[in-house]
Parts: sequence; C-alpha cells; structure tokens
Amino acid sequence: MNEIFPWRDAPPANFGVIGDPIEHSRSPQMHHAAYAALSLSYRYLAIHVPVGEVHEALDSLAAKGYRGVNVTVPHKSEALSWATSPDELSSRIGAANTLELATGRATNTDAPGFLTTLTNMNVKPGASILILGAGGSARALAAVLPAAGYEVSIWNRTHARARHLADEFGLRFNSEPVLDTDVLINTTSAGLQGTELPLDWKKARRGSLAYDLMYGQTPFLDKAIEFGLRTVDGKPLLAAQGALSFEWWLGINPPSGVMLEAIQ
Ligand code: NDP
Repeated sequence: MNEIFPWRDAPPANFGVIGDPIEHSRSPQMHHAAYAALSLSYRYLAIHVPVGEVHEALDSLAAKGYRGVNVTVPHKSEALSWATSPDELSSRIGAANTLELATGRATNTDAPGFLTTLTNMNVKPGASILILGAGGSARALAAVLPAAGYEVSIWNRTHARARHLADEFGLRFNSEPVLDTDVLINTTSAGLQGTELPLDWKKARRGSLAYDLMYGQTPFLDKAIEFGLRTVDGKPLLAAQGALSFEWWLGINPPSGVMLEAIQ
C-alpha cells in the first residue's frame, strides 16, 4: 500500500497521481521502478484529492513545483477543465489523465495506451470489438477505436448512454450484448459490486479475447476462461498509459517492460 498524502500536506516532489480513493493506486511503484531503471532521482507520490477540490489542489501542487500529475477516477474531466492547453485528444474524449502543471498542458494517455495493448496482443485493425459499458473509460475507447480501423459495437445497462456514445463516435448500438465478436471489453464496474453482467457466454467465440479493464482475476474473466476465451486484465493498460505519460513529460523512451513488471 502507498503512503498517501492529503493534497494540502503533500511535500514537494516531481510527479504524482491524484484521485479519490487513491490508496490502491499502483502508479507510484510503477514510476519509481522506471526511474530506478534509468538512474533518475525523481519522486512520484499518491495524493488524495476529494471531489470538488481538484482545481485548488492542482494550483497548490503547481506552486510546490510538481512537474507532472496523473489523474485517476473520478477527476479526469475536472482535470481537463483545469488545463489551459489541453490537446485535441483529451478535448475530444472530455477527460485528461496527464497534466504538465507549469504550462497547463494536458493529454489523455488511456486511449492510446489501450491501442498499444491491442497491438501487443496481435489484435489487428478490422477486428470486431464489443464495448460493455458506457462510462468514462468506454468513452475514451469509443473516441479512438473506430479511427484506428476497428469495427466497434457498444452495449450498456443504461441504453441511452450507449446510444449517445454510438451516435457521437460512429459505433453500432446493441440493445442486447451480442458476444459474437473478436474482442469483448468489459469497462463496467459491475465486478466491483460483485454483480454479474447479463451475458450469454455460449454465443462468444472460443479463442476470442476477453479484456477486463479491472485488475486481477475478475468474475468476467472467470467466465471467459470457462468458455474458452483468451483473457487479459487491466494491468497492461495501466503500464501502457503510464509509459506514455512518462514519455510525454520527460521525452525519454520509457522502460515499458520494467513498468509492467513492477505492478504484477
Ligand atoms: P464509470 O463510473 O464512468 O462507468 C461505469 C460503467 O459501469 C457504466 O457503464 C455503468 O453502467 C456500468 N455499471 C456499473 N455497475 C453496473 C452493474 N451492476 N451492472 C452493469 N453495468 C454496471 O467508470 P469508468 O469507465 O471510469 O471505469 C470503469 C472500470 O474501469 C473501473 O473498474 C476502473 O477501475 C477501470 N479502469 C481501469 C483502467 C486501467 O488503467 N486499467 C483505466 C480506467 C478505468 P450505467 O451507465 O448503467 O450506470
């Protein structure tokens, strides 16, 4: 478990991650592993920022000399509204997870990080993908997957949210989850509540890929294994977005393998 700093008490450091809750973030260990591998002496802290205090907290961290901050749930859209120079991608997604405090620049490395993981798993453009869920992370995927050449459909418990994303980003809306695709991506937080999604796994293709954005062996991945699918959890995505943030801040080729190893 990390040492957690309330933002008002955060000591001067170089980088950090803000969120609420933040106890379970693996970003500090991942970035420190990268610094150690490259003999860099930066410090990266986990900082607790309650809802409603994001702008004030970021101003304070900027004044303390923090160079960059990662942003996690539930602050990514607030972080974008704090930024004075968000890039096109973070503006399109409506969320920023990577900030440069001195300049007010912002980007989103979740979406390109996700594309990196698909490429690493040999999922080629043209593959069919079903996104389950229509929250913040589904939105980041919806904003980049069609443009990268994937055939994307979306289902969500609350149909209107999925329909909205489908209209905005050119996806196919499913009123029922149709599992007959090359890749199934679970972006819902149903597993956190111990709830099973209403999926007819008999319709899934054996050998296709089930991808859960949550970490570890989730109920979704248990089912996928039972029905003969390949599986991947959220750790490669965490490492990929972290590596892209590292590179965006420092302009140095990140030690991606070291970063993934540090969060296993
Ligand atoms: P949001 O709160 O924005 O969205 C949650 C989604 O889950 C909504 O579509 C919601 O549906 C759905 N949902 C919640 N409960 C249930 C349920 N019981 N049954 C069916 N659907 C349900 O969350 P995020 O998109 O920000 O994050 C989703 C997950 O992804 C989290 O577990 C998060 O930790 C993980 N994540 C992992 C990352 C990584 O680096 N690996 C990066 C980003 C996220 P409805 O609209 O109907 O409420």
